[in-house]
Amino acid sequence: METIEISKQVPVRGKYDVIVAGAGPAGICAAVAAARQGAKVALTERYGVVGGNLTAGYVGPILGMVSSGTMRDELVKLLGVPDNDMIGITGKAHNIEDAKRVLAEFVDHDNIDVYLQSSVSDVIMEGNRVCGIVISTNEGAMALTAPVTIDATGDAVVAFLAGADIEKGRDDGLMQPVTLEFTIDGVDENRGVICIGDVDDVKLGEERFLDFCKRCADKGMLPPELAAVRLHPTTRKGERQVNTTQANGVDITCVEHIFPADLKLRKQIKLLVDFLRANIPGYENCRCIASGTTTGVRETRRVMGDYVVTAEELAEGKRFPDAIVHKAEFIVDIHNPAGAGQAEEHIQYCKPYDLPYRCFTPRGIEGLYTAGRCISGTHRAHASYRVMSICMAMGEATGIAAAMCARSGCNPRNLDVAALQQTMTAQGIELFD
Ligand SMILES: Cc1cc2nc3c(=O)[nH]c(=O)nc-3n(C[C@H](O)[C@H](O)[C@H](O)COP(=O)(O)OP(=O)(O)OC[C@H]3O[C@@H](n4cnc5c(N)ncnc54)[C@H](O)[C@@H]3O)c2cc1C
Repeated sequence: METIEISKQVPVRGKYDVIVAGAGPAGICAAVAAARQGAKVALTERYGVVGGNLTAGYVGPILGMVSSGTMRDELVKLLGVPDNDMIGITGKAHNIEDAKRVLAEFVDHDNIDVYLQSSVSDVIMEGNRVCGIVISTNEGAMALTAPVTIDATGDAVVAFLAGADIEKGRDDGLMQPVTLEFTIDGVDENRGVICIGDVDDVKLGEERFLDFCKRCADKGMLPPELAAVRLHPTTRKGERQVNTTQANGVDITCVEHIFPADLKLRKQIKLLVDFLRANIPGYENCRCIASGTTTGVRETRRVMGDYVVTAEELAEGKRFPDAIVHKAEFIVDIHNPAGAGQAEEHIQYCKPYDLPYRCFTPRGIEGLYTAGRCISGTHRAHASYRVMSICMAMGEATGIAAAMCARSGCNPRNLDVAALQQTMTAQGIELFD
């Protein structure tokens, strides 16, 4: 590709103790946790709303579980969603419109400057140390500096720009499909089925609902990749959160992939609503009332850290001496990168597992943590820890760690993890059995 050189002076808009890039479930918890430790925090988000997939992506319910005392419990309460089971699978989706306000109120803290519609476009490096970021705003580019940055962008934008060691997808490079979630109302609760996904054997008459949908897809009534029709309940009667559209072979970090995927998924919403109205009892009058403002992205870059956690370790419920997320629990949920439904024939369940501190420190880069779905793990491990409860706990832990680093002038790689664990347990977070 042809290149041109751009060299310009950029105003330094703020000097902070901690920068958090990305205001999804991980980023908002990171920012608030650091601020509660007394750090001066910049939270920067490319969209005009905080929450990431939890709001802009229209993703719900909040799945997964972590140990007691984390911000996940606080947020679930603020969002008004009851815990129906240990890992949330049978839980109800939060009200996403309410969540936009609730999460904005959550990050509205004296110690946090929130930069909305401000996309990270570059990093400021001193050697291999991240010292700040450049954000792109409608006032132009501006710099924010801090001794510690947390990359909670999901796509690992900061780590990528800093030259971190990155992996994507499984061995053949394919990643989980992207999906545009949407909400329907008008469902007759007395007749309208709920189907939470491949672990669900709910019936339509005598037949398993998902087998019925597969049969319809085989007959051409639905595109084959839409055969797994997932219809989650929400906190409101007559509503369903639909997690079914999908586009395979998309790498959303490639700018030319974004619009074709969005177009395809928006067309699928219409197909699905028409299908539900015509074929599913109780759904005759359903209609789409809202959808994500952005394609929901399950998987992109994974930043290789000082430790790379594997699905086998998660499955056995491994304990680590440097745990900063404890008793995380969710299945290895791999939406098929090459077709409909699940990628693996048998769902891998996990015992409650730990995530060690070393998964959050990118190899070879200083001054930087990752948090959320871009942390250091394998493709299969990522498919478990990527759910929102676990991402919230990761954000909180790195937020506290970043504030401690900034206070003591210490690099993340050299932080006394026992002191971090002590600080976390002192504020009620369960970290050990
Ligand atoms: C379709 C779909 C369904 C899912 N279903 C569920 C479910 O039911 N329950 C569940 O718990 N999890 C579910 N997940 C997984 C979960 O939503 C995500 O893995 C989780 O939100 C990851 O949190 P995060 O904070 O790491 O990233 P995100 O939620 O992706 O947030 C990252 C934030 O960073 C921002 N950002 C990105 N780039 C930049 C930049 N350059 N500058 C500034 N900001 C930037 C983004 O705009 C976003 O706000 C689903 C995911 C998808 C896609």
